[in-house]
Amino acid sequence: MKKIAILGSTGSIGTQALDICRRHPDRYRVVALTARGSRDKLFDQVREFRPEMAGLTEGIDSSEIPEDLKFCRWMTGKEALKAAAAETDAEQVLVSIVGIAGLQSVMDALEAGKQVLLANKEALVTGGHLVTDMARRKGKPILPVDSEHSAIFQCLQAAGGNRPEKILLTASGGPFRTWDRERIEKATPAEALKHPNWNMGAKITVDSASMFNKGLEIMEARWLFDMPEDRIQVVVHPESIVHSAVVFRDGAVLAQLGLPDMRVPIGYAMAYPERLETGVKEPDLFALGSLTFTEPDEEKFPALRLAREALRAGGAACTVFNGANEEAVAAFLREEIPFGEIARRVEKALEALAGLKADSIGEIMDADRKAREIVRK
Ligand code: MG
Repeated sequence: MKKIAILGSTGSIGTQALDICRRHPDRYRVVALTARGSRDKLFDQVREFRPEMAGLTEGIDSSEIPEDLKFCRWMTGKEALKAAAAETDAEQVLVSIVGIAGLQSVMDALEAGKQVLLANKEALVTGGHLVTDMARRKGKPILPVDSEHSAIFQCLQAAGGNRPEKILLTASGGPFRTWDRERIEKATPAEALKHPNWNMGAKITVDSASMFNKGLEIMEARWLFDMPEDRIQVVVHPESIVHSAVVFRDGAVLAQLGLPDMRVPIGYAMAYPERLETGVKEPDLFALGSLTFTEPDEEKFPALRLAREALRAGGAACTVFNGANEEAVAAFLREEIPFGEIARRVEKALEALAGLKADSIGEIMDADRKAREIVRK
């Protein structure tokens, strides 16, 4: 029986992880659940999984907790995240909260000796050096949940210790893959929110359309697999069946294939090194017939170039890239700026904040705040 804490349990990844717990009640015991504001959904989850502790980070007072749920310890605010990450007897902590708060949670969980299953991008993007250093010192490597990184991780399990020469990071290309530059410039939120293959939250769906998501994933891969950015090749693959691949020096390429369903990478991280029944079928290769691969267009999608520049610049540049993008996406979703303006705002923030340091969580949070301020102005 593995004990698991889930931070961000009412989101897309959290609910699918609970689906796996529900399928395998003999293998998983849920000991902590946290959510941001979806209190009714969290109440239902607590009722079903009966964790020892539960938390709402956006606050709740004790009079609002239903009588039948008072068997569990309720916490609020940042303290709830800290307790769920580090202060239960969970062996595994799934960090599936969204945003830079994930960095502190990952560090707390690692510090407490937990196995981190990572679905939060910001922890590695902003503090990859701190996280990987701590994971190494604690002897608890991060288990990636992001589908591409899970694919790379799965391929490396078959590598027998051989280091790959290169990573092929696949990208669906998003809904604007075939659009021209002028049309992308004026795309609306409704158009950006129509992802062809994956069903995800609004922020990450817009990031898929702009390819900022792939920029963030280059950063994640750089830290997870200790691979310089110039050996991480983005491959546009609209069918989303090959989830990524690794290239070895003998010319062999290992890839992981599957339907675009997050239950596979979530289940793999949860049961590693075993494989679980997840309710997902294998892809029907005969129905698919063919798979296509093309080179990304960095003119149309400047996010990839900006991500590589930020990685090469080091310091807090990736934090600025992330914070500026998040703020610009929010402004786009409020229909305050056009789609094409997202990348321009990020580029301006990177120029304005060149040379900022990121040696501690405090410096990272500071860089994040400054990047957001610049975009807002
Ligand atoms: Mg991904």
